[in-house]
Amino acid sequence: MRLSGATRVAGVVGRPIVHSMSPILHNAWLAAAGIDGVYAPFSTEPGRFTAFAQSLRGGSVAGLNVTLPFKGEALALADEATFRATSAQAANVLVFREDGTIFADNTDGLGMLGAFAEQAPGFDPTSGPVVVLGAGGAARGAAAAFVEAGCPQVRIVNRTVARAQEIVSALGGAAYGLPQAAQALEGVVAVVNATSAGLSGSEGLDIPLEAAPAEAVVMDMVYKPLETPFLAAAKASGRRTVDGLAMLIGQAVPSFEYFFGQAPPKTVDVRALAIEALGL
Ligand code: NAP
Repeated sequence: MRLSGATRVAGVVGRPIVHSMSPILHNAWLAAAGIDGVYAPFSTEPGRFTAFAQSLRGGSVAGLNVTLPFKGEALALADEATFRATSAQAANVLVFREDGTIFADNTDGLGMLGAFAEQAPGFDPTSGPVVVLGAGGAARGAAAAFVEAGCPQVRIVNRTVARAQEIVSALGGAAYGLPQAAQALEGVVAVVNATSAGLSGSEGLDIPLEAAPAEAVVMDMVYKPLETPFLAAAKASGRRTVDGLAMLIGQAVPSFEYFFGQAPPKTVDVRALAIEALGL
């Protein structure tokens, strides 16, 4: 990589940050496109994030992806934010404009819809209700993306039903506890696992997937393992599936466009690079 006095700088901030895939994806795209740019990891102490981001006003750094635990603080310091970010109550993209203002977006939901488009071609979010399992930041972002895409009803199913109800109060839809999951799955066109259940070393989700129509597309946001027990069960029942790695790459695409002003090149297989880096 050759840097110059004109190199455009962007990056990702979180804590911990060492396992982030974003530097691998963005730097591979930069190299393949021949862009004079660099994408770096930043880690700040909790409590110092806001001061760090405020210090970048003015555009010396083009923008940042923001990951846990700073997504809420990132939204709070922005001067302008998209519907997606405000409904998700979290920003994963900050753009530092030259006029000193900060713009925030949340591209996780776009990444999720992009993953459906790639791995379940023809899936139409307007064609029926969907179930989102979980009520954390990822679930809220997914619900907002489905609402924005014109989905007729988003059903939130969560272990702690009060958290599901909070999302429904903000975005509409219906809230269910895990014991009512079968009822929530009736007639849906998609089921998205946005809980952390199924992560390597943790128990999978115990959900009666057979209550969903056979045509329902099943997605898991967890990408390590790439085929979670939830996706394996969906595949075994003949359903189409979408994995979390496609979403991870999907959220990076609009981020790259924000930071470097063009779409990432298609000439580099970043999925293969991520699979290698993650040891999947
Ligand atoms: P979070 O805020 O911590 O929320 C976790 C959710 O999982 C909560 O709804 C929690 O329920 C539920 N949960 C945890 N363990 C459970 C279990 N054993 N059984 C049932 N429910 C359980 O996390 P998040 O930030 O929303 O992220 C959720 C997942 O999405 C994580 O695995 C994250 O890695 C993944 N993610 C992936 C991408 C991607 O690009 N692929 C992007 C964002 C997030 P309670 O409310 O009852 O505690």
